[in-house]
Amino acid sequence: MNETLIRDVVAEVLGRIGGATTTVTASAPAAPAPAAAKSDSCGCSVKKATSAPALRGKYGVFATADEACAAAQEAFLQLQQKGIAARRKIEEIVKTLAEKNAEPWGKIEFEETKIGRLDHKIVKLGLIKLVPGVDWLRPDARSGDHGITLEEYTPFGVVGAITPSTHSIPTLSGNIVNIVAAGNAVVFNAHPSAAKCAAVAVRTYNEAIYRETGIENIACIIEKPTLDSFNALCKNEYVRLLLVTGGPMVVKAAMQTGKRAICAGPGNPPVFVDDTCCPTRAAKAIISGAAFDNNLLCIGEKQVFVLDHVADKLMQRMSENGAVKLNSAQLTQLTKAAFTIKEGQGGGCAQAHTNKDFIGKDPGFLAQAAGINLPAGTQLLFGETDAMHPFVQEEQMMPMIPIVRVKSVEEGIALSLQSEHGYKHTAIIHSHDVENITAMARALDTTLFVKNGPSPAGLGLGGEGYLSFSIATPTGEGITNPRTFTRVRRCVMVDNLRIY
Ligand code: NAD
Repeated sequence: MNETLIRDVVAEVLGRIGGATTTVTASAPAAPAPAAAKSDSCGCSVKKATSAPALRGKYGVFATADEACAAAQEAFLQLQQKGIAARRKIEEIVKTLAEKNAEPWGKIEFEETKIGRLDHKIVKLGLIKLVPGVDWLRPDARSGDHGITLEEYTPFGVVGAITPSTHSIPTLSGNIVNIVAAGNAVVFNAHPSAAKCAAVAVRTYNEAIYRETGIENIACIIEKPTLDSFNALCKNEYVRLLLVTGGPMVVKAAMQTGKRAICAGPGNPPVFVDDTCCPTRAAKAIISGAAFDNNLLCIGEKQVFVLDHVADKLMQRMSENGAVKLNSAQLTQLTKAAFTIKEGQGGGCAQAHTNKDFIGKDPGFLAQAAGINLPAGTQLLFGETDAMHPFVQEEQMMPMIPIVRVKSVEEGIALSLQSEHGYKHTAIIHSHDVENITAMARALDTTLFVKNGPSPAGLGLGGEGYLSFSIATPTGEGITNPRTFTRVRRCVMVDNLRIY
């Protein structure tokens, strides 16, 4: 044992004794084995985190935002001490536990939220290993006659994060990997309807992280999240940065806090299909993207525009590959159930609001509302609509795709653009014509643009690239990764250390 290791163990044991009145349960992990110490310095000049007893034994799950933030701040300071080795260990723990617990955690999330598909909830948790971690961060260097300069990607401190109901544990897990890889701690305010499962995951992660590194609260969560706890989290002095994953309301709320906010906002991804693509490939891609987790993904295909003379062929291929077409009467019946339509006032347009009971439900549930029975194994419903139909205009998050016939490429691109509502999130094209592809990419100006594949290919699932469940759209950071959560700091050596 070296001196640093002994000091760390002693400090940790004293900290635990200080908190002996708290609720370390019989199932709590054994005493920590600290990760590799950062340096051989005596540590006398290092500001030690305070060991407030109320923060012990909670493993990240706190009643209030202020307690959670204080605990996260303490954990952030501990992580600073324990260095890159501890960050790496935490990344490994989160990725391993997400995969190991994919089935039970997928199940508890599905039971709590009652949206999406259990099989796909399990798949999503198995994907956390594809989220980039510590190795993503590489300093930038400059070398010249005046010496050398290094720009390093350094942590902020505590990040406040808001997660959606559509993928609670996957978003939380991916966010922890990114945020902690960059050297930060994080406090979550989860969606109230997906908060219990999130707390289970946070506790499990922290127990393992504590056991392996001695850091107890690197990822914290407010047990019963509310709008008040959101406000308290945003106001807390330790929170230096916000990461918001959700719809328009929370994005707006985060931007009004005065803190820097990275916002992964809503989408309404259009698909344009021209006459140069392979209709079978396009049909299969549309089905697999739109049916995934019953179309809860923000990147999921939500409406299709197709050139008139290939529309029948595309729909035929969709019917042959697991999708079922609704006729006009069935579609009208489903629309009445799935949306509340308020007539426009003073000559304005009618406003549709999605009925929450239909979000993320199975095709069978929607079919029942449409008045039909489905063959077993149906993945997706589709039906022909006009361009202003609620299924086109609303981010409906249901396994039902509206198909709109268009007369020209120009019309298809223009309607795709209109239906995306300027979210600049995701768009998809099926085409082998580079001019059509380029024209749509330029016009839509989206964060993700997928050609000839299902939407998840844009997140490295069947396409090249890496995964994140938080795609920062209105604020422009793109597919979030560890660098998103860093401050760039420059270190300059004048006239020396250039070795040639
Ligand atoms: P939601 O907006 O209802 O909730 C998201 C989070 O924000 C929740 O934690 C919720 O409690 C909180 N929230 C909502 N309104 C708030 C307010 N006014 N003040 C403070 N907090 C508030 O969204 P949801 O239904 O859980 O998720 C689906 C939405 O999220 C869709 O719009 C989808 O496109 C979007 N989303 C985006 C991404 C992305 O990466 N861009 C990823 C997943 C989901």
